[in-house]
Amino acid sequence: MAIQFKIKCMRCKKNYVIVTHRMHGFVQCYDCEKGQLEGEIKDKAMRAFFDLPEEFYRDNRFLRSVKIQYMRFGSITEKQREFFVKAAEQMRKRSTEAPQDI
Ligand SMILES: [Zn+2]
Repeated sequence: MAIQFKIKCMRCKKNYVIVTHRMHGFVQCYDCEKGQLEGEIKDKAMRAFFDLPEEFYRDNRFLRSVKIQYMRFGSITEKQREFFVKAAEQMRKRSTEAPQDI
């Protein structure tokens, strides 16, 4: 399990954001980034690619950052695509395993 740090959103300075390493760059909470995640994806395959439950984006900064980059520049790298799939898979596992933790 990766070590997690809790730091304050650098934009609203109100909400906390969980980051998994210190090299986190400019950190923003889901509320602040939500607007950048919205918008229409014209590419059908990419639309399916980014079609994840909203809570995945809310809880995972990495998923957010990849989608935001795509929304902004219209492309992501092969590596980002690969890690995105892995991160989404982890989130999926987490959401099915979660009830056992209670
Ligand atoms: Zn914020």
